[in-house]
Amino acid sequence: MDAALADCRACPRLVAWREQVAREKRAAYRDETYWGRPVTGLGPADARLLVVGLAPAAHGGNRTGRMFTGDRSGDVLFAAMYAVGLTNQPTATHRGDGLRLLDTRVTAPVHCAPPDNKPTPDERDRCRHWLVTELGLLAPTVRAIVVLGGWGWQALLPALTSAGWQVPRPRPKFGHGVRYEIAPDGPGRSSLHLFGCYHVSQQNTFTGRLTPAMLEDVFAQAKSAAER
Ligand code: SF4
Repeated sequence: MDAALADCRACPRLVAWREQVAREKRAAYRDETYWGRPVTGLGPADARLLVVGLAPAAHGGNRTGRMFTGDRSGDVLFAAMYAVGLTNQPTATHRGDGLRLLDTRVTAPVHCAPPDNKPTPDERDRCRHWLVTELGLLAPTVRAIVVLGGWGWQALLPALTSAGWQVPRPRPKFGHGVRYEIAPDGPGRSSLHLFGCYHVSQQNTFTGRLTPAMLEDVFAQAKSAAER
C-alpha cells in the first residue's frame, strides 16, 4: 500500500502544491532535495496503537518524506511519544535518523501537504480510501487510536465505518481527553479505544493550549488501552 500511495496523483491542486514547494523550497533548506510526494504512514504494519494527524507539513513531511519529521509539530509529538515509551528516541529530523516507533503507527487522512494546512472536503474524501485500506491492514492488531485535532476526527469516523467498525449515532464528539469505545462491525475486527487530543500544531503548543504533560497523558492512556 505504501508503495502505491507514494505514487498517487489523484488531487491536482495538492500535486501542484507539493511539487511547487519542493521546487521553490524554504531558504533554510535550499540545499536539500525535497520529497514532494505523498507521505505514507510511519511505523510497524502490525501496530496496536494508531495516531491520526491531519496532513503533512509543506516543509516538514513534504521535505523529509516522513510523517511529522523535520518540523516543530513533530518535535513536540515525538518527545511526548518517547516519554511514554512509544518511540526509541525523542527526536525526528530526517529519514535514517534511527527513529523507531514501538508498536505504534502514525498516519494522516490526507497524505499530501495542502496549502495553508487546509485540504478541501473533496481532497479529504478522495484520500479516504488510503486510510480505509490502512485501517483494514492494521485490523488484526490495532486496539487504540489517538486522533490529533477535530479535523482528523471528522475525517477518521467515516473511514472507520467503511473499514468495518460501528461508529455510534450521533457521532462521538471531538474534544481533548475524550475517549470512546468503537465496536467492531465485521469479521476480523476488534473493539477500538478512540482518544481525542488537541493537534500538535504550533497554534496549540505555542499558546499553551496543548502542553507536553497533556499530550503525554493522552498517549499514556492510549498505550495502556492498546496493550490490554
Ligand atoms: Fe493521492 Fe491523497 Fe495525495 Fe490526493 S492527498 S494526491 S488522494 S495521496
